[in-house]
Amino acid sequence: MTPELVIANARLNGHAEPCDVAVAGGKVVGIEPSIVAEAPRYDARGALLEGGFVDCHIHLDKADILERTTLIEGTLAEAVRETALAKAAFTVEDVYRRAAGVVRLAIGHGTTALRSFVEVDPRVGLRSFEAIKEIKAHFAHAIDIEICAFAQEGLTNEPETESLLVTALQNGADLVGGCPYTDPSPAEHIRRIFALAERFGTSVDFHVDFDLDPEGSDLPAIIAETERLGFGGKVICGHATKLAAFTAPALDDMACRLAAAGIGVVTLPATDLFLLGRDGGSMAPRGLAPLMQLGRLGVRTAVATNNVLNPFTPYGDASLLRMANLFANVAQLGRNLDLERAFWLIGRNPAALLGRRHGVAIGCAADLVLLDASSPGDAVRRIAPILASWKAGAQNQLRA
Ligand SMILES: [Zn+2]
Repeated sequence: MTPELVIANARLNGHAEPCDVAVAGGKVVGIEPSIVAEAPRYDARGALLEGGFVDCHIHLDKADILERTTLIEGTLAEAVRETALAKAAFTVEDVYRRAAGVVRLAIGHGTTALRSFVEVDPRVGLRSFEAIKEIKAHFAHAIDIEICAFAQEGLTNEPETESLLVTALQNGADLVGGCPYTDPSPAEHIRRIFALAERFGTSVDFHVDFDLDPEGSDLPAIIAETERLGFGGKVICGHATKLAAFTAPALDDMACRLAAAGIGVVTLPATDLFLLGRDGGSMAPRGLAPLMQLGRLGVRTAVATNNVLNPFTPYGDASLLRMANLFANVAQLGRNLDLERAFWLIGRNPAALLGRRHGVAIGCAADLVLLDASSPGDAVRRIAPILASWKAGAQNQLRA
């Protein structure tokens, strides 16, 4: 296949010397020490070329609303309550404008795919969903966007939400998401979300176990439903911070059960650190799901952004590399091998969780990021600058 672009002198993980990477038809078609072609050349000057970052858990619909909410307690209850109030006033144009700003930031930070939760319920109806559908289409040239129709505020307590989820799934939502901790009947909530996924042939993505009490986990119910319906590989649990409070034997046991069931765990460090452990005073716990231990026992894991500038997370710039650095710092990772694993948590791992091929390899989509770094671990240590990124071989012009 005749190359349409050659990214020359790129450092690739696993290669001792810089390589030339040929792109055609939106895919990587050649990796050689030297490629001679008529195609335009981009000189990477020895910088690190990797698969684009994948943000597998972000809320575009409720980003950038700090100025219209009150933040005093910094608790999960306050965040849900305040966001629910703000959400009632969302318009399609408002959601589109705020989401577009975050997507531009994400692209500038080297993200080439993301999964956005989009809330549907009696307060916001389908307005956020309609806006994020427009966002998905508008930015398709630069980033792949999955839409997860999401019941943030319960399901059994608000029957209208279930019919809105159905409408969203009939009209372009890619999958369905649940939040058993806000539902008065968590087990029934989980059952209904799985039933919707089965009906529409989609994956499921839960917000689950979002506190530091080791008791009362909803993971066993999710594992049971995953196994009963044969959903292995199609289930993700976000937060799962209760795991941080488990004893070592209980953690090992749950990790083995999650791995066997094919359930992924995604940590949202910025949110988890902000909202949890406030009763711990100056000895507040870190309280993140222990991804390294989970990974060692075969659980598929990732790190993601979650929220940007709202009462759940009053910070944010949609930089996944910054999230990997934050996670590595909190998880006390220092060895090169562990920093490299932290790098895979924002690219290779979430891509696998979303069922995407990923990396700089022949046949893979040319969704690529060029980093001013000597290795993946080095990129995490220094939150290395993004030099360029490509979507299907087309260089993204949007900068953060
Ligand atoms: Zn979330």
